[in-house]
Amino acid sequence: MTKPLPGQCRECGGQFEFPAEAAGTTADCPHCGKPTELLLAAPPQESAIPLKTIVYTGIAILILVGGLVAAMIALKRAERMTGRNLATPTAVSQPPAAPTPPRPK
Ligand SMILES: [Zn+2]
Repeated sequence: MTKPLPGQCRECGGQFEFPAEAAGTTADCPHCGKPTELLLAAPPQESAIPLKTIVYTGIAILILVGGLVAAMIALKRAERMTGRNLATPTAVSQPPAAPTPPRPK
């Protein structure tokens, strides 16, 4: 089994795939029909993906950190609020645990 390799036509720049064992040979381009050497094209992904990944990772980290900071601020604010509430305990009239059930005679 040979994995198809991405190639690029030298004449028209069209991209195509070719079997690995045909690398280095000449074949007709499926786009322009001109004979072109079957050479590995510089895969655009190799140079594009890292940069995109870095950019998206940076954005993701920024969003994450921003969200974390916002959450921390909200948490601190909530803590302060609950702390104030705890400082002045509200006397909640709670009914006794269990009212004595009426005893059957
Ligand atoms: Zn071509």
